[in-house]
Amino acid sequence: MTTEFADRAQELIEAGKILYDRGWVPATSGNFSVRLQDGSFAITVSGTHKGRLTPADVMRLDSQGRPLDGRRPSAETGLHLALYHRFPEIRAVLHPHSPAAVLVSRLFGGHLVLEDHELLKALDGIDTHAHRLIVPIFPNDQDIPRLAKRVDRWIDEHGGMHAYIIAGHGFYTWGNSVSSALMAVEALEFMFQCEGLLHGVKT
Ligand SMILES: [Zn+2]
Repeated sequence: MTTEFADRAQELIEAGKILYDRGWVPATSGNFSVRLQDGSFAITVSGTHKGRLTPADVMRLDSQGRPLDGRRPSAETGLHLALYHRFPEIRAVLHPHSPAAVLVSRLFGGHLVLEDHELLKALDGIDTHAHRLIVPIFPNDQDIPRLAKRVDRWIDEHGGMHAYIIAGHGFYTWGNSVSSALMAVEALEFMFQCEGLLHGVKT
């Protein structure tokens, strides 16, 4: 086990504690990953409790996404790999199942617009509240390759994205490190909460 793998695994463990304490990865939901220098990946093992991760709960995939230790990675590994493939600058992907992401997915169809939020500046490459960020909302799908293709198609049509929501499920966001991805999760969840409160509850 390389030091880099151990260091990044530790960062994912710490991220899991933070996200669990906020109530954003309940039960065994959510999954996290990091791209290592050699192009291989560290990712959480399927079915692990994200608030109580240990180094044994983070496994290694080769650069093609194949497990290197015979264990089963997160069921949503394909979504992580698709993002890394699409965006070479991404080093970490975090996927919480947070209440506000689920709430806004029930309130808005197709996409959510985030604008005039100071916290937009917490996202990589955005330096003003005046930015207009579109967060696509995709229908939930247990067919991960199909869902990954749908995400890819959206990027083909609209260009880059900072995050996407899966309806009734949670959201994906990323960054050039675990800490920047964590910052993106916190900022997005805050903005999702605000939009959920602003637009009320469906009756
Ligand atoms: Zn999920």
